Amino acid sequence: MRLVIQRVSSASVTIEGKVNGEIGKGLMVLAGIEDAEQLKRKRSASTKGKNNAGEHNPMFGNQHKESAKALQSYRAKNRPKLECPHCGIVCASSQFNRWHGDKCKLNPRQP
Ligand SMILES: [Zn+2]
Repeated sequence: MRLVIQRVSSASVTIEGKVNGEIGKGLMVLAGIEDAEQLKRKRSASTKGKNNAGEHNPMFGNQHKESAKALQSYRAKNRPKLECPHCGIVCASSQFNRWHGDKCKLNPRQP
């Protein structure tokens, strides 16, 4: 994958003569994404033979600092809660996305 970021005074995307998107002054990004299978082979080749388990792990034998633990704890406790419109349960976004919203048992139009 290659990305080219360019500062522009204006930019637009035209497909079959029709402008699909345009901006004024800003940044334009051109993205070139190669074949997914080729990308997978390259990534696999670059990690082949590397072992990050056990004593090879950069954190092996180390512990997080107390300040880092406190920050993780604070963030975990202060994640936004979401309320399901169907059953009214208030829960974390991970639980909401898995069990509530459109997937809720009480949703009459559940997929
Ligand atoms: Zn629900």
